[in-house]
Amino acid sequence: MARSSQTYIDSFLKDFGERHAAEPEFVQSVREVAGSLGGLLDKHPEYQDAAILERISEPERLIQFRVAWTDDAGKVQINRGYRVQFSSLLGPYKGGLRFHPSVNRSVLQFLGFEQIFKNSLTGLWLGGAKGGADFDPKGKSDAEVMRFCQAFITELANYIGPDTDVPAGDIGVGSREIGYMFGQYKKLAGEFHGSLTGKGVDWGGSNLRPEATGYGLVYFVEAMLQERDDSLDGKTVAISGAGNVAQYAAQKALQQGATVLTMSDSDGTIYDADGIDNEKLQYIMKLKNAERGRIREYANKYETAEFKEGQAPWGVKADVYLPCATQNELDEAGAKQLVVHKPLIVAEGANMPTTPEAYQVLRQAGIAFGPGKASNAGGVAVSGLEMAQNSSRTQWSHEDVDERLQSIMQDIHAKCVKYGKDDTGATDYVRGANAAGFQRVAQAMLSQGIV
Ligand code: NDP
Repeated sequence: MARSSQTYIDSFLKDFGERHAAEPEFVQSVREVAGSLGGLLDKHPEYQDAAILERISEPERLIQFRVAWTDDAGKVQINRGYRVQFSSLLGPYKGGLRFHPSVNRSVLQFLGFEQIFKNSLTGLWLGGAKGGADFDPKGKSDAEVMRFCQAFITELANYIGPDTDVPAGDIGVGSREIGYMFGQYKKLAGEFHGSLTGKGVDWGGSNLRPEATGYGLVYFVEAMLQERDDSLDGKTVAISGAGNVAQYAAQKALQQGATVLTMSDSDGTIYDADGIDNEKLQYIMKLKNAERGRIREYANKYETAEFKEGQAPWGVKADVYLPCATQNELDEAGAKQLVVHKPLIVAEGANMPTTPEAYQVLRQAGIAFGPGKASNAGGVAVSGLEMAQNSSRTQWSHEDVDERLQSIMQDIHAKCVKYGKDDTGATDYVRGANAAGFQRVAQAMLSQGIV
């Protein structure tokens, strides 16, 4: 006999929190999903009987391995590599690799758990995974990065493949790192196939994969605005981060007629009151991608800009905020700063950039909030399209992929509205995304038996 769904969720979360006391990020992400499933579990008591929550929050497999490599001085270096193969219910394991000193089991389990539901929302056949290493590419030479990537993928090669597990990029893993890993993987496998996504467009990659997360985020924001008969045209946008997601979110926001006021990195924020236009954005792309420089250099080049050392963009007044850097970057104090400006929307480009306390502040202020698992799903969606193109050895045009991406983001938005609209007509996007993503996974779990 099923207990009331709220009692069940509370008891599940208490047990989960105790079992994972040393893994705060993982607990935070499970709490965020489970906490908004009350309504769905009321309608589906069979999910409780089949222990869907307990099973889905336990990774199918967690691989940890040593990565030994030699630096330019000939000194042996050791890093720790991981792959969390969380769920294969909906397809081959799929999710990015992160190279950053903060990488550990807790961070990767949180990211892998999020990925299950994000991938589910795309409607594609994609399982959920995440991986990476506590390696810091910053300050390393190109040759060091190559040797590290080769050592890392040599070990991971035992566990991946086009129908098994298909990693992609994330923080610290861009086209350079994917190239080095793909080259070494191909040598080991003796075959050219799509075991990694984010490949170069001339050697198996998809058009629009680099742009996909940022563009998809802006398409999602446009859909949110359209719900209220509005658009991005003429709006001001504050973006955090200056990496892959932030750059292409800025580019698409500009194309939609918005003014982009800020970008940032872990040193601080640049605020350009005149707006970061296309030419200035090209400068940032060159600075961050080719020269691997710091965002503060922008303020030296453009006198309309100010560099706010150690600050995030939340103090700058804007209509739309897009956190696109890293987890927990928008905390309660930041949210309190931000709500003063009465923005229309906060939408996550990064994974879990908003702390639970900050989310409560935004919610109470009535600000529409796009959760990452819905709003940043464009990247993995185009990775899924890259897998489809690799399987059929074809390449779709830029326009074709863009059309599919727009349609996927609109579809995800529609699912959020369907599952998240309340009696007043307002949409709770967090509840909608979690319920829609979870339901597809739960149904697959019921159908596939206890395995
Ligand atoms: P990049 O490595 O390209 O860029 C990361 C950016 O975030 C850099 O500007 C970096 O600055 C900044 N940053 C990292 N850590 C911190 C920190 N602790 N404090 C402040 N700034 C920080 O990564 P991506 O753009 O690919 O990823 C950004 C976010 O988007 C991540 O949360 C990722 O998981 C998520 N995401 C990425 C997808 C993709 O397709 N790439 C898909 C979906 C989500 P600095 O140079 O100083 O470190």
